[in-house]
Amino acid sequence: MGRLSVKRETFKIVTYGCEMNDYDSEIISSILKNEGYEEVFDIEDAKIVVVNGCSVRDHAQKRALGFIQSLKGKKDGKRFIIAGCLAKSLENENIFSDESFIVSTEYKKLPELLKLKNFKEFKINSLGNYSDILRKTDFTLYLPIMKGCNNFCSYCIVPYLRGEEVSFSVDDVIENIKKNINDKTGEIMLLGQNVNSYFYDSYDFVRLLEKVAKEFKDMRIRFLTSHPKDFSPDIVKLMADYENICPHLHLPVQTGSDKLLRLLHRDYTVKDFLEKIDKARKILKDISITTDIMVGLPYENEKDFEDTLKLVLDIEFDDAFMYKFSKRKNTLAYFMEDCDKKVSSSRLKKLIDLQRSVKEKKLKELVGREVEVIVEKVSKKSKKEYYGRDRHNRSVVVNGDDIKINDKVIVQIVQIKGITPYGIKKR
Ligand code: SF4
Repeated sequence: MGRLSVKRETFKIVTYGCEMNDYDSEIISSILKNEGYEEVFDIEDAKIVVVNGCSVRDHAQKRALGFIQSLKGKKDGKRFIIAGCLAKSLENENIFSDESFIVSTEYKKLPELLKLKNFKEFKINSLGNYSDILRKTDFTLYLPIMKGCNNFCSYCIVPYLRGEEVSFSVDDVIENIKKNINDKTGEIMLLGQNVNSYFYDSYDFVRLLEKVAKEFKDMRIRFLTSHPKDFSPDIVKLMADYENICPHLHLPVQTGSDKLLRLLHRDYTVKDFLEKIDKARKILKDISITTDIMVGLPYENEKDFEDTLKLVLDIEFDDAFMYKFSKRKNTLAYFMEDCDKKVSSSRLKKLIDLQRSVKEKKLKELVGREVEVIVEKVSKKSKKEYYGRDRHNRSVVVNGDDIKINDKVIVQIVQIKGITPYGIKKR
């Protein structure tokens, strides 16, 4: 007797947001697949559409909400799930009276939910602990070591969305890595809103990082994000001692003005920040340092902005994520005085131009040097060129024969085009 083919219900996940949202999408995908649902590439082919959105930044939330609005006209028998921290921020707002829409933060209950005829019957629960389910990509394993945040920076909605900080156990972290790495994994990224405040039993982040580096010697180890007030130079000592801990530190400074740092409740001064960078560079001269900077902050005047530009020049960040401040409801900064929109746009442009010139100057120093690159994919522009990242997290285009994805190659940098280093495989 031939086998009966059972048509499975299809789903598509659309993600708007950061690594945490990507991670959540992996969780949702694995839960639904385990229950027999089939993931499809095209939204048209999906019966269930999951919109996993971020609400930390106004821009990301607007894009996700715009996308959701556009779906309302194309129902076609589809059902829609809104997930991620966007769901958390919408849970008390009755904006979707439609029974084909549901806002859910409780992913493990999704299969149960999908059995409901009418989504309105569902009651929302809070975000759970999903440290046991991991994101798998071909190359990087993203692994949250904690969730939530206790800092309450005055502009940030994360503590309200993701709740109190909870560190996952060391054993869970190690076991989860073992369970989820495969022969394609080359890198482990430890994630947390503030990894420096990780604490479980007697393990702080420095001890956890060392343990992971020792257990997984063949993997590159990275981490995101560090808070300047909690960051300890001992982490840089580990980078110097363990070759597999990448010499890259992402330390979001946010602004170069002490007045604004106080207003943002960041709990450090520009001097503290400079001293920490100085210590880090004394331990590891070649460390790569990247940051986040906002402009157009409430009460930001020309002097504050000039202080930020000065800091960029003083520190010479290897790279920076720069953006305009946007107000988030339910945060303290929501009630503060706005900066003029035109002024903040022009400040952002000035800042981006300055940082780009700093980055170009630093990249030029790389020409002639050899760097270790792990090849991640074929370059979009040419099949003869490969794209990878070096230990400092710089994107590098590699030319050469006999290159395969996941190869670890030594590359000599021959030129910088725009802000991308190009190199030739040496061995
Ligand atoms: S430390 Fe980061 S996540 Fe926590 S409140 Fe501040 S900006 Fe938000």
